Amino acid sequence: MTATRSYRERATYIEQSPRSRAILEQANRYLPDGVTRGTGWEPYPLFWDRGKGCHIWDVDNVERLDFFGNNSSLPLGHAHPAVVKALEERLAMGVSFHAPHESHVRLARIICERIKSVEMVRFTNSGTEATMNCIHVARAFTDRSKIAKVDGAYHGLYDAVAFDGSTDPDRPVPVPNLPAIPRSMMDEIVILPFNDAVAAREIVHEHRDELAAVIVEPLMGAAGFIQAEKEYLDTLREVTAQNGIVLVFDEVCSLRAGPGAGQGLFDVYPDLTALGKSVGGGTPLGAFGGKREIMELYSSRENERHVGHSGSFNGNPLSMVSGAVTFEELTPEVYERLDRLTERLREGIRAVCGEFEIPVQVTGLGALFGVHFNDRLIRSALEARSNDVERRQQVFLGLMNEGIWTSPSLNGAVSTPMGEGEVDAYLTALRAVLARNS
Ligand code: PLP
Repeated sequence: MTATRSYRERATYIEQSPRSRAILEQANRYLPDGVTRGTGWEPYPLFWDRGKGCHIWDVDNVERLDFFGNNSSLPLGHAHPAVVKALEERLAMGVSFHAPHESHVRLARIICERIKSVEMVRFTNSGTEATMNCIHVARAFTDRSKIAKVDGAYHGLYDAVAFDGSTDPDRPVPVPNLPAIPRSMMDEIVILPFNDAVAAREIVHEHRDELAAVIVEPLMGAAGFIQAEKEYLDTLREVTAQNGIVLVFDEVCSLRAGPGAGQGLFDVYPDLTALGKSVGGGTPLGAFGGKREIMELYSSRENERHVGHSGSFNGNPLSMVSGAVTFEELTPEVYERLDRLTERLREGIRAVCGEFEIPVQVTGLGALFGVHFNDRLIRSALEARSNDVERRQQVFLGLMNEGIWTSPSLNGAVSTPMGEGEVDAYLTALRAVLARNS
């Protein structure tokens, strides 16, 4: 692989996207970096125009297969007829009321019925707010302030959790990943290594009297959909229960992984769960919930530990109906079909890379997958950081040029409008990219 070949992917990409480039020039005047979330990519991001099913078009009218689905938020793909119908009906009847609405009950019931550990739930507007509220209520419930999070896990960019670990794999030291984080927050965070049950138990035990919560993802999204090991989650469940610490599962991504989210697949149940992305069926929504005794801190104003929870658009009926309709489409049979399809894709990626003798690790659970150009098994963010990043960038741009859209880090999701044809199209595209770049 040479930089010249990498350059060729860039050249094709640039050639295909004159209108995106022109809009970006305008965008740079008004939006830092021309974008409104930190997800631009090199050489520059494309501007998307529209989506239908598993297809997506950019402003230059180039069509691609959408293997990203707004980072796992779109299990039914774009503009699913049932979602469009529900949204149109709701739109005509008003979209926000600052008051209870029957649609809250409908979606809350679905969540509580499907996700075993969630007895009561509250809605937010994003996954960030969902994890933030879990931390909030865990602090009130335990009357402690420290939070333990996993190195490389992303829960939103706010003071309590915007930390990763230093490179010491067993005892990571917190390092803020934003310059804006007050230094005092360093005293409130403990970093755990992922999938190292022995070290995690020791660290939690060491801080047991100060920890309000341990927050962990059953499938670590930002680091590349790396699965937790069951033993690791079992250990965290045990050590938190023994020490009165609230165990929070961030299932913002892993909600997509199975009918009962990640916890159902691992058969390990937290005290609180944060949901986001697919919970709103493609509209902005987050939710958090869990044990009744914790969630009831939101109930009684007489309770001295009463916790406030607000948000002008919490439970807006548009997101409620979109979420409910999406869940209703996702029957156990649909999850099974998505699992099979995604396994075909994972196996296929390994086989195609094998044809070119390119080391690869394909991670993920259910409909979610991550591709890592690495010759060692990926069990943590630390291991994922040793990716061949040049190869990754080249494959990302190459797939774009071949009509496949995944995340720049090669995370992806399979959606219900896809079948074997789409999975095989991904594999054909990958083979073409590797053939011209090996
Ligand atoms: N938690 C996880 C695991 C996520 O992947 C994300 C977003 O990528 C969040 C929380 C934050 O969710 P949102 O972007 O909806 O605020």
